[in-house]
Amino acid sequence: MSHLLLVRYGELALKGRNRPDFERVLSRNVARALDRAVGPGGAAGWSRRLRKVHGRLMVELGPEAGGPAEVERLVGAAAKVFGVVGVALARRAALDIEAIREAAASVAREAVRTAGVRTFKVEVRRPNKSFPLTSPEAAAAVGRGVLRAVPELSVDVHEPDLRIGVEIRDDGAYVYGREVPGPGGLPVGASGRAVALISGGIDSPVAVWMAMKRGLVVIPLHFWSFPFTGERARQKVVELCRALGEWGPVPDLRVCPFTDIQTAIRDRCPEPLRITVMRRMMFRVAERLARAEEAPALVTGESLGQVASQTLESLAAIEAVTTLPVLRPLIGLDKAEIIARARDIGTYEVSIQPYEDCCTLFVPAHPRTRPSVEEAEAAERALDVDRLVEEAVTAIERFRPGPAGRVPGTLPSGRERETPRPGE
Ligand code: ATP
Ligand code: MG
Repeated sequence: MSHLLLVRYGELALKGRNRPDFERVLSRNVARALDRAVGPGGAAGWSRRLRKVHGRLMVELGPEAGGPAEVERLVGAAAKVFGVVGVALARRAALDIEAIREAAASVAREAVRTAGVRTFKVEVRRPNKSFPLTSPEAAAAVGRGVLRAVPELSVDVHEPDLRIGVEIRDDGAYVYGREVPGPGGLPVGASGRAVALISGGIDSPVAVWMAMKRGLVVIPLHFWSFPFTGERARQKVVELCRALGEWGPVPDLRVCPFTDIQTAIRDRCPEPLRITVMRRMMFRVAERLARAEEAPALVTGESLGQVASQTLESLAAIEAVTTLPVLRPLIGLDKAEIIARARDIGTYEVSIQPYEDCCTLFVPAHPRTRPSVEEAEAAERALDVDRLVEEAVTAIERFRPGPAGRVPGTLPSGRERETPRPGE
């Protein structure tokens, strides 16, 4: 038997020309999530067909998808895709009220068994007007059938535990039950591309996740100060990217060797301004990468007031070096909320591994909390900013977070894009 998944997506944000892009990107991302969930072992002979039906995505899984447990796992995988509002397992029945009743009864039995539901309601839509019963007649007939087949259930039309959906269409009737809620948002790739500054900390992975949720393909960029921060610290960021990859396509991690810049700052800039100058250097490198990658925005895990470098003055002094918009998805979140989100999305456990981040190494005893742009510029006169940035950009390497391991450095050409954009 083949299985059907009905994937529902939000429609409010879908106006006019955005809609086909949204649907195409969503369908590609759902296919990717399913293929990943099936895994390399199950991929042989694996068939899945996606098509758009009545403002929803219908996925038909071949019998190789496996038994109920595997199919349940596939439902879960589809329900993690941004843009998805809910996923339900559906059955196809012949255009015959008896067959529809039977399908509804097995949906109901399944829900009693797995979720302990007590009450239900049948909701019928009938785009196929040649079906002999009207929607209310069909709903009543199916409801009676379910009551007979599953006597422990009763009807509740106001707040049922289970809504059994029936759609009577030209090619058959589709019957579905419990919907697994999705994360909402927009499919990754529907909003364009951005470069994210990702540390090994708790915040920036959450910021990346939130940017992905709004449909951005986020290219992760990490600044790495070997040997002050070791191989483990870099591996930690690779792992964070892998965890984020569970939610949608994440391009290769870019690692920028940052030791020369950091030691130059330490040796030549006034101590209280070190952090400000360091962040400005990061932003300059990030902007160069973003332009090479045709990614017209930066994303950071900055919040407001969390640490000295996150006062309004400080954020202003840092972002003065770039003309790109700087997105800070965490700006409205408290630390406790960020931690809760990090746990939910599976990055927290990686982030709290104890490997040093480059920024914690050169922290001044008394950082300037309200630096001005002029002070920062004066501090940078002791540096050969252009040369340092150029060298750092040239030295960027790529890492693939998957099991394939490391991919040798191929930047800064930025010519290849592993994630196609809408319209491509
Ligand atoms: P996080 O938890 O993301 O490390 P944080 O609260 O520790 O953030 P900071 O250390 O001030 O705050 O860093 C602010 C932001 O600067 C980070 O969220 C990240 O976007 C960027 N950043 C800091 N260090 C690095 C790094 N080594 N590589 C790339 N980006 C970095
Ligand atoms: Mg940090």
